[in-house]
Amino acid sequence: MKRVTASAPGRVNLIGEHIDYNDGWVLPFAIGERTRVTITLRSDSKFRFTSAQKKSAIEIDLSNLVPSKRRSDWSDYIAGIIWALEVNHRVDIHIDGQVPLGAGLSSSAALECAVALGLDHLFSLGKSKVDLARLAQRAENEYVGMPCGIMDQSISLMAESGHALLIDCVTLETRQIPLDLRSEGLELLIIDTNAHHALVDGGYRERRERCQSALRQLGMRSMRDLDEAQLELFGNSLDEISYRRVRHAVTEIARVHQSVALLEKKDFPGIGKILSASHHSLKVDYEVSCPELDLAVEVAESSGALGARMVGGGFGGSAIALTPQEKIHEIKEEISQAYREAKFAPPRFFTAQPSDGARIESSE
Ligand code: ADP
Ligand code: MG
Repeated sequence: MKRVTASAPGRVNLIGEHIDYNDGWVLPFAIGERTRVTITLRSDSKFRFTSAQKKSAIEIDLSNLVPSKRRSDWSDYIAGIIWALEVNHRVDIHIDGQVPLGAGLSSSAALECAVALGLDHLFSLGKSKVDLARLAQRAENEYVGMPCGIMDQSISLMAESGHALLIDCVTLETRQIPLDLRSEGLELLIIDTNAHHALVDGGYRERRERCQSALRQLGMRSMRDLDEAQLELFGNSLDEISYRRVRHAVTEIARVHQSVALLEKKDFPGIGKILSASHHSLKVDYEVSCPELDLAVEVAESSGALGARMVGGGFGGSAIALTPQEKIHEIKEEISQAYREAKFAPPRFFTAQPSDGARIESSE
């Protein structure tokens, strides 16, 4: 084999926000936009990367493919995978991605997973999808220097069309949950607010640490061992802010399980209510929303969405709205109009249906 083409999708997380690090579960699905990579064996001494989304080609020697020599640009995502897979045969890698970069749809995992699956195939490494997800996470953590969890890589590799993937963030066990929005006349609308508020890194670390110290104070090992009723009974030793942070974590964990049960019954209005309850909790208890996200959610709800919430770390980024297909146009118009009136930067819109995970497209 001399050449392989592989592709992998971006993702959106339906429910389970700020609970990957709180021992929770997440329920993402793959979107239709994919990143394709073509990997070709080379006979000289260089690795060469090109991307249809980037101007210049990058050439790297094997001796420079180590985290301490990272270039701090887009090539790190590819170099990190080669490093994590311990590939030392030189290759050309060409990228062409449809997943919008930096919109919270995980173009980074799409790129990593397409490269990882392609290299695994080209060199017959025989890695499982779980192995590849762990390796890709390691590449992003240690080579790129981004402390992400395992969700993005797991869903990009393991997604099945018409399904969301329930991921247990402690055991990494997964379960495919049927989610066929199209046949219900529904679509997931993604609203990229284009807002990026400064709190992102500090706010994230503070939430994480506060949840951990609150657990210690409660004498508990894990958020998953606690529910809202127990928190009400035993939580009065916590300060008011810690109490609300923990309440978000335990109610969000409960919302993921409720969502799975509702999906089994195809109760989409019920799912919509859960999305909106999740937003309320992220806004009021976890305090990671911002005016742009709140406005997108509010207007989506008032113009016909079944429910909506912010997604991702918060303080900007994207929101999602579960929407009847015939209402999409109107909802987008209303949100754009409200943003103009509020003098916010114009939002970007995407729509998503649960799609297939990474695959080999061709090899020769
Ligand atoms: P997200 O994963 O939400 O899109 P990230 O900041 O995690 O945002 O990852 C985006 C980065 O991934 C880009 O800035 C770029 O470095 C890299 N990347 C993703 N897709 C491509 C692509 N098609 N070509 C080149 N680089 C890409
Ligand atoms: Mg990313």
